[in-house]
Amino acid sequence: MRAAPRVTCTEMDPSDRNVPEDEIERLRQALDAETERRLQVQKQLERANADFEGFVSIAAHHLRESLRDVAANSQLIAETHAGRLDTEADLWLGRIRGGVARMQSLLTDIVEYAVTDTSPRQPARTDMEAVLRLAMEKQLNDENAAVTHDPLPVVMGDSEILTRVLKHLIGNALKYGGTPHPRVHISARRENLEWVFSVQDHGSGIDPAFRDRIFGVFKRLHGKEYPGTGLGLAFCKKAVEWHGGRIWVESTPGEGSTFYFTLPPAGET
Ligand code: ADP
Repeated sequence: MRAAPRVTCTEMDPSDRNVPEDEIERLRQALDAETERRLQVQKQLERANADFEGFVSIAAHHLRESLRDVAANSQLIAETHAGRLDTEADLWLGRIRGGVARMQSLLTDIVEYAVTDTSPRQPARTDMEAVLRLAMEKQLNDENAAVTHDPLPVVMGDSEILTRVLKHLIGNALKYGGTPHPRVHISARRENLEWVFSVQDHGSGIDPAFRDRIFGVFKRLHGKEYPGTGLGLAFCKKAVEWHGGRIWVESTPGEGSTFYFTLPPAGET
């Protein structure tokens, strides 16, 4: 075994008047060069992010256009040949329309996932009650569902991203709610330096073996009986981590799941 090399460290006291002028100048130049290098790297990163975002949005635009063509033409065939198609042809047309709808959802979720953290955004004071109201507007109105909540705090965050996070978590709680009358409850508690939010349902629950896996991209535990892309929770993870928070799930299979995520509080002024 080789002996660990000896490291000696010469500490420099800034008040030490014996440090030679040229050494101070050398250190100043090194610091300036490092600052300049970091600025260049940051600019390159910003350019790469902007290029990537532009590429994703143009690609999505072209794909949506092609999908609209497929949808419009299959609709045309169904209308102009109404009553003249056999059941097999009707079935195939139905499959085409189902495929188009799935591709449209996939595209929406892929774009959402891909560009979450590429645009320059600054967290601001965000009222989570308002965020919840917006998230609920984006849910399909289901009269059989009951969504309740405790008072929610103001956090430091991005309102648009957090609206999407709540939309996905509440949407999942309703979708996998397990009964014709799903119940979802949202609450928040303060723990030291952060707020811990929870979204609780009483659905089928999640096997503990898959608790981490479900936050991966395209990871699904359910089949086609529940529509979905497997990107919602991956988006939530990326979005919460962008805010410096964590997300996890606790669940008892058969009794329901509670998704937790943390966010920084808005500074108390
Ligand atoms: P999806 O579009 O499939 O809903 P998500 O990324 O939102 O994708 O969720 C990943 C998987 O985690 C889902 O397919 C489902 O199997 C499981 N899941 C998510 N939320 C819940 C929940 N509240 N209860 C039970 N299973 C859930």
